Amino acid sequence: MNPDQIALLTLHGKAEALEPLARELGLSLVVDEGYDTDQLGTFTGETARAGTQVEAAARKARLACERNGTRYGLGSEGSFGPDPYLGSVPWGIEVVVWYDALLQVQVHAAHQGPEVCWRQQSVASVAEGVAFAQSVGFPAQGVVVGKPGEAVFNKNLRDADALRLALEQGLRHGPVWMETDLRAHRNPMRMQAIARAGVALGQRLAQRCPGCGARGFGPVRLLPGARCDCCGHPTSNAHAQLLECPGCGHTEVQKLRETVPASRCERCNP
Ligand SMILES: [Zn+2]
Ligand SMILES: [Zn+2]
Repeated sequence: MNPDQIALLTLHGKAEALEPLARELGLSLVVDEGYDTDQLGTFTGETARAGTQVEAAARKARLACERNGTRYGLGSEGSFGPDPYLGSVPWGIEVVVWYDALLQVQVHAAHQGPEVCWRQQSVASVAEGVAFAQSVGFPAQGVVVGKPGEAVFNKNLRDADALRLALEQGLRHGPVWMETDLRAHRNPMRMQAIARAGVALGQRLAQRCPGCGARGFGPVRLLPGARCDCCGHPTSNAHAQLLECPGCGHTEVQKLRETVPASRCERCNP
């Protein structure tokens, strides 16, 4: 396997977002456009994704190595929905996985936030559909008209004429479902978010294990037990985090804080 290359499967132009990461790692990026990543899952529901988001991204990273004979692979996977706090704004989570086929280890990082173009709406007229498309920035931002299995289901509309035609056809059968295209090459905000996840992954990979020197040494979980600064009771708040090497399993505990205010104590402020 080639130790100087890192492979990426993408039908959706993700090389644009992840090329800087490859450069930072001193590797040349092999862009593999020959594998239909849509068979691993689509956003529009024709194919459901198997497993968690990290598992899905890791599968792509491993496949990229296998198909291209490289030591390293990258895989990316996004998920979208309402924000986890109030559920009132669209929220995107981008995960990027780095895989080392020689050591058979993986490291991942994520970027999440409200900067995502994820909107959907049912429209009852061509004017309403055109207004929706304009409001999300079509055609730079793609829109999908219809759902899988319906009379009209089109996610390859390139201009206003094609959009009108699809809406006219769909509206003959009643209201038409429209949503923003979440594929990276048709969603500029998503492309930026993938790039940010790539930056986070680069930072993680820059950390070397003090035991074996492998890349990706870093936090894997928080350790509860910070004491209340009023009553001294150990709370559920983290006092430290556990750092772990993805290669040899070496761990270290990094202290975060000794105490938390009484307002965060289960005993003083139940
Ligand atoms: Zn190690
Ligand atoms: Zn207390």
